[in-house]
Amino acid sequence: MEVRPGIHQIPGLRWSNAFLLVEDAGLTLIDGGVPGDGTKILRYMNRLGHGIEDLRRIVLTHSHPDHSGPVKELSRLSGATISVHRNDTRYRRKTGERWLYYPGQPPALGWNVPFLRRIPAHEIIEDGQVLPVMGGLHVLHTPGHTPGSVCLHLPEHGVLFTGDMLLANGHRFHRPVYFPGTNLGHYRASVERLAGLSFETACVGHGKPLLDQGTERLREMLDNYLWVSPRWTEFKRWARFLFHR
Ligand SMILES: [Zn+2]
Ligand SMILES: [Zn+2]
Repeated sequence: MEVRPGIHQIPGLRWSNAFLLVEDAGLTLIDGGVPGDGTKILRYMNRLGHGIEDLRRIVLTHSHPDHSGPVKELSRLSGATISVHRNDTRYRRKTGERWLYYPGQPPALGWNVPFLRRIPAHEIIEDGQVLPVMGGLHVLHTPGHTPGSVCLHLPEHGVLFTGDMLLANGHRFHRPVYFPGTNLGHYRASVERLAGLSFETACVGHGKPLLDQGTERLREMLDNYLWVSPRWTEFKRWARFLFHR
């Protein structure tokens, strides 16, 4: 499914979204779905007339297993680089290994079991970096959902890849998703930063891409969004009551 010229959403993924950027220089995958989605990604690449060897780079919006499921295999088969932000990785100096990590992750033992395996991080991407993809794929470090969440912006094409920072149903943005490690203050600052960007299309981590008027829709959401959940306010009131002297 072509969302915009050269920008494809991999069809048939049930849980999360993955996007393929197609250009003569090779293919870039943004996120990879859940374990098992690799076959669907390969099949779609074949349908477009590309083999696995055309895949050059896999950029992850964050390290959650529902977005990085098959990327280890895809990278092994194609030689593609796995790129991710430092804050969603762990590093062991003794072995020089760096792998994907997210708060609340069960121990990554390197077993060949989905969710318990180690997925290598080959390249660290940083805020402000521009990857040589489709005229410049800009990296924005947008912590909140996870410490190392990034959004990817193609200003020339008016497209923003949001990962789980923003979800949408095709018409409207959804409110943020909380996970272990989610920091609401960072989340808010990141979403407000995104609202300052100019984009038409938002390719989201779950749900349906929002095709037009991305910036306007996001500002609308921010106007109506209550960042402090009522439960949190309640909790603070109790805490003050119990601990205040
Ligand atoms: Zn996530
Ligand atoms: Zn997700």
